[in-house]
Amino acid sequence: MKFPIYLDNNSTTPIDLRVVEAMMPYLTEKFGNAASRSHAYGWEGEEGVEQARAQVAALIGANPKEIVFTSGATESINIAIKGAYEMYGEKGNHVITCVTEHKATLDSAKYIEKHGAQVTYLPVDSLGQIDLEALKKAITPQTILISLMHANNEMGTIHPIGEIGKIAKEKGILFHVDAAQTAGKLPIDVNQMSIDILSISGHKLYGPKGIGALYVRRSNPRVRLAPVVHGGGHERGLRSGTLNVPAIVGLGKAAELAKAEMASETQRLLALRERLYRGITQELDEVYLNGHPTERLPNNLNLSFAYVEGEALMMGFKELAVSSGSACTSASLEPSYVLKAMGVGEDLAHTSIRFGLGRFTTEEEVDFAVKKVVGTVKRLREMSPLYEMAKEGIDLKSVQWNPH
Ligand SMILES: *Cc1c(COP(=O)(O)O)cnc(C)c1O
Repeated sequence: MKFPIYLDNNSTTPIDLRVVEAMMPYLTEKFGNAASRSHAYGWEGEEGVEQARAQVAALIGANPKEIVFTSGATESINIAIKGAYEMYGEKGNHVITCVTEHKATLDSAKYIEKHGAQVTYLPVDSLGQIDLEALKKAITPQTILISLMHANNEMGTIHPIGEIGKIAKEKGILFHVDAAQTAGKLPIDVNQMSIDILSISGHKLYGPKGIGALYVRRSNPRVRLAPVVHGGGHERGLRSGTLNVPAIVGLGKAAELAKAEMASETQRLLALRERLYRGITQELDEVYLNGHPTERLPNNLNLSFAYVEGEALMMGFKELAVSSGSACTSASLEPSYVLKAMGVGEDLAHTSIRFGLGRFTTEEEVDFAVKKVVGTVKRLREMSPLYEMAKEGIDLKSVQWNPH
């Protein structure tokens, strides 16, 4: 086992060595600029890119012409939201999203608000789900875009994308899906699910970092987005800049592998997650699951441990690479906005730990993690007077605390 044990696959995944192998020629002898039309180096680069485009398209049931390469899901989401608002803002200025979205979505929504957009941020229930009736009610004649994530990166809850797509389609509203956590993990079919725009990240599916894709529907309806980056007109003018051929080839290979192995990998991850969850909860009480018990990412387990301190917990978990709250916000001591939105109390939000299992996680590693978690939490609770009082049946809410 390699320490610390990597259990943070919702934050990033290690690159698959088969992906590295596919990229290698494009990092060395096949170095051509894919836009060079006049010689073999350019053609070679272009060939690599077009193969990758087909591989990414196949993963989500799209046409290769509908795939645009970007630097990652953050950029894809920016293009989707800002580009749609710029293009369709005349038609209507209302956009619907959700409070538990990734910052790339929330900050893009804030940006268009500054430029005249009206944005509805749908709330979530205690399991992280939105109310589809509330979504329908939020729609106005001004609504041009619904932007929602397929699954949440922090607590794993999956939105019913197919049902939401149907609602959007009926009303003639564009539907953008942030699939950074689900592309290559859960089946996605852009036609069956009535998705118009979709964002993908390379490094969340065992591909390289700094590469992503954006699916833009070309028919029924034909979606037009305004570019965010201007320049040489690459990628049908939507995303200028010399293509990162090796990374694109890597993303293509990663997509191909994910498609081929998705079903078996999901079964394996579910079994590992069950082993982790059972292992911990058989030995510890007062452990709370954050997010939906079944409608959740197969590789994600987010738990809160009552009667311990968040920082002490993380100190005790030094041999485990896990994340406390969201990786993106864990630099601050603010409790996670996602957990807050689900109504998780401050105390439990501070002791929430996200375990993100992955393609390379082993049973042995999970068993080690169980032992480490159980041992640490037991040790910390032995020192906790609150836990002792709770075990003695004292209702802590009824205790009159002396302010000193
Ligand atoms: C990781 C992630 C992003 C951002 O992706 P990058 O490729 O790192 O920019 C966006 N949304 C979700 C749900 C993510 O998990």
